[in-house]
Amino acid sequence: MVPTEHAGGVLTVDLNALAANYRLLAGRLGAAECAAAVKADAYGLGVARVAPALARAGCRLFFVATLDEAVALRAILPEAGIVVLAGVMAGEADTLVRHRVVPALNDLGQIARWADHARARGQAPLDAVIHVDTGMCRLGLPPAEVDILAAEPERLRGLRLVLAMSHLARADEADNPMNPAQRDAFAAAIRRLPAARASLANSSGIFLGPGYHFDLARPGVALHGVNPTPGSPNPMVEVVHLKGKILQLRDVDSPQTVGYGATHRVTAPGRLATVAVGYADGYPRSLSSRGHVAVGGVKVPVVGRVSMDLITIDVSTLDAGAVSAGDWVTLIGGDCPIDAVAEDAGTIAYELLTRLGRRYARRYVESDASTVIDGR
Ligand SMILES: *Cc1c(COP(=O)(O)O)cnc(C)c1O
Repeated sequence: MVPTEHAGGVLTVDLNALAANYRLLAGRLGAAECAAAVKADAYGLGVARVAPALARAGCRLFFVATLDEAVALRAILPEAGIVVLAGVMAGEADTLVRHRVVPALNDLGQIARWADHARARGQAPLDAVIHVDTGMCRLGLPPAEVDILAAEPERLRGLRLVLAMSHLARADEADNPMNPAQRDAFAAAIRRLPAARASLANSSGIFLGPGYHFDLARPGVALHGVNPTPGSPNPMVEVVHLKGKILQLRDVDSPQTVGYGATHRVTAPGRLATVAVGYADGYPRSLSSRGHVAVGGVKVPVVGRVSMDLITIDVSTLDAGAVSAGDWVTLIGGDCPIDAVAEDAGTIAYELLTRLGRRYARRYVESDASTVIDGR
């Protein structure tokens, strides 16, 4: 890994802020349990640090996307509950059992595969989650398969149903009628299945109110500080801060252009700075001439194209002595909230987070003490 002092960018992850966000969501959930979605390496932030911090905050159940992620998480958290959203594919049952990973069964074929495996073992029943589709048309039993399962519950023989879940398509749109429709469809589906705990809400779903909480919620992005209530103030604490290093400053005047494609034209005397972060670091190329960064609390624009390792910013509005090579500028966090950066880039904070590059120096800190506990 890159020593922090030589890296072009430094990504700071505040584990205390993460824990505070877990407690905030758990508090909103009242009696319902707060699990956590930590797929995609905990939304790009490093599951090896994020998952233990959440476990220390009280989280006991973790959702991941793939079996590989589940096996990696098992090595990190020997005691936690782990659910793999991909379910059980051919040839995976032994690995799931060995690592005590529970599959979210997505169709009758997966139910048969897992139940067959359980019956063939002839030991204690295997835990299972059932994912019911109520409108995503992505993963989960379609309504016709729920009908079959309701009529033939013996398909679950050998399994212990620990959770029935579904997923909201428009939870971030608080007033969208699809939300109560999915909630009601889910409530109707679980009434027809064997008794089990139930889970519907992701981050945004928690903020739709107690009617969406059921027994357990599965927040992901809000834990990492992203706003689960778009259009309203962000209730979460900031977890991620990204800064980039200024490599060079130059005075410019017209006629002159900046960067690949010469897309930015200098029209007046001014000053530019070159920052050592680019699209190879996950700084989206779509922020070319659209993004903003903060220099000493002042927001300044990205000018010209984002290139692989570099961006150029216009610092003409700053006093000449206010900025020097070697200074750091804020790319994400603080004056550049991650949701705003994502919007400027034409994407969502989820994508911005999960594409954060490998080249940053990563610092995990615990904010109250302001102590760096790991500079990797
Ligand atoms: C990713 C995911 C979550 C977490 O969603 P957030 O919007 O990040 O809170 C919950 N459930 C399922 C099925 C998911 O795929």
